[in-house]
Amino acid sequence: MIVKLNIIVMKTKRFFIRSLVIASSLILGYWGITFFLDRVNTSLVYYKSGETLVIGRHAVEAVSLPQLPDNQIRNVILFIGDGMGLSHLTAARTNLMGPDGRLHIEQMPVTGLVATHSADDLITDSAAAGTALSCGVKTTNGSIGVDANGQRHITILEAARDAGLSTGLITTTSLADATPAVFASHVRSRGMKAEIALQMLRARVNVLFGEGEYFYPKTDPRSERKDNENPLTLAQELGYTIIDNKEDLPNAEANFLLGLFEDLTTDRMKPEMQAPVLTPSLVELTDKALALLSCNTKGFFLMVEAEGVDHGSHVNRPDYFIEHLKNFDAAVKVAIDFALQDKHTLVLVTADHETGGLNLLDGSPASGQFEVAWATDRHSGQPVPLFAFGPHAMRFTGLKDNTEIPKIVAELMNLDNFPKD
Ligand SMILES: [Zn+2]
Repeated sequence: MIVKLNIIVMKTKRFFIRSLVIASSLILGYWGITFFLDRVNTSLVYYKSGETLVIGRHAVEAVSLPQLPDNQIRNVILFIGDGMGLSHLTAARTNLMGPDGRLHIEQMPVTGLVATHSADDLITDSAAAGTALSCGVKTTNGSIGVDANGQRHITILEAARDAGLSTGLITTTSLADATPAVFASHVRSRGMKAEIALQMLRARVNVLFGEGEYFYPKTDPRSERKDNENPLTLAQELGYTIIDNKEDLPNAEANFLLGLFEDLTTDRMKPEMQAPVLTPSLVELTDKALALLSCNTKGFFLMVEAEGVDHGSHVNRPDYFIEHLKNFDAAVKVAIDFALQDKHTLVLVTADHETGGLNLLDGSPASGQFEVAWATDRHSGQPVPLFAFGPHAMRFTGLKDNTEIPKIVAELMNLDNFPKD
């Protein structure tokens, strides 16, 4: 016998309303089991016989997170999906859960748009766009934490650190790559990765998680360094605990933690490119960073970058970027859960730029299958989406220039040492 079910998703977590729904279901002759389904941010699901439920793609309803009261913000978690435009989110949603579902990112109640052009090019790179997001200044492509004249500017992370807050940077690519680098180093060219690694350590960021090619001395086979510096020795002198595998992650208790892992962004669609077994997921890294940083009662600033959307879009591969966007979305969920509990945490999700000029063409809502068109294998000039959840999230609605984002964050966190203009 095939059991046919009817599913009703309730957004409420209030006991009274739940009880009312259960009572009315009994009166109306519905029967079934009540249970809680956190995965889709719902609290009550009940069903009866006689209707059809497709468990899987279309089971996830369009739900959205609540607006939280405008409490004082203590913590900010900034997610940067490298290369992630609106079409990437739409493609991932349609493929993973159908067009009527919602990614966790898309459940965030406030949306905005961000203009991404750099000082010298309508099409930005990650260095200039990242510098805009970290320092609030326009700069030329390739510049890290400095303006178009090479003048260094304080970053939002440095301002938070100087105010006594804890700080963290997580990436699924090299820690010395542009996006993490712009928050804790200042150089004219993104190619100066050997120097960037040293500066990032001296910036005394509490949590640094990413790939470590430029943090190993050149004697180490994993190293990309050409000089004789040993960043690991420097890290130890600065008080860092250093780990390089997933097994050491859960028990690592340190005020300064440097986690260097291998192949965080592998093309997992290719069987020969499996992530090494000792490589943690972005969810595990985000979870650990939040556990460590939240010990500081003054608050923290954490940036989490996922690189795979950009990588997958440079090679025009939907399967590649969707896989990585799914992992990114799962990491955002970790932050959303933290913010729901904490009520003093702002979660922002945006991108540095769009990659690929992606568009969706023919497709069917029922199958979740669609055709894609790519305008380029490089970056595009499209504005990128911004999603906000937490106190004062409404400050991020509308079209913003990317340089406005850190200024609003600094104002909301009372970081007086961050320039307002
Ligand atoms: Zn790129």
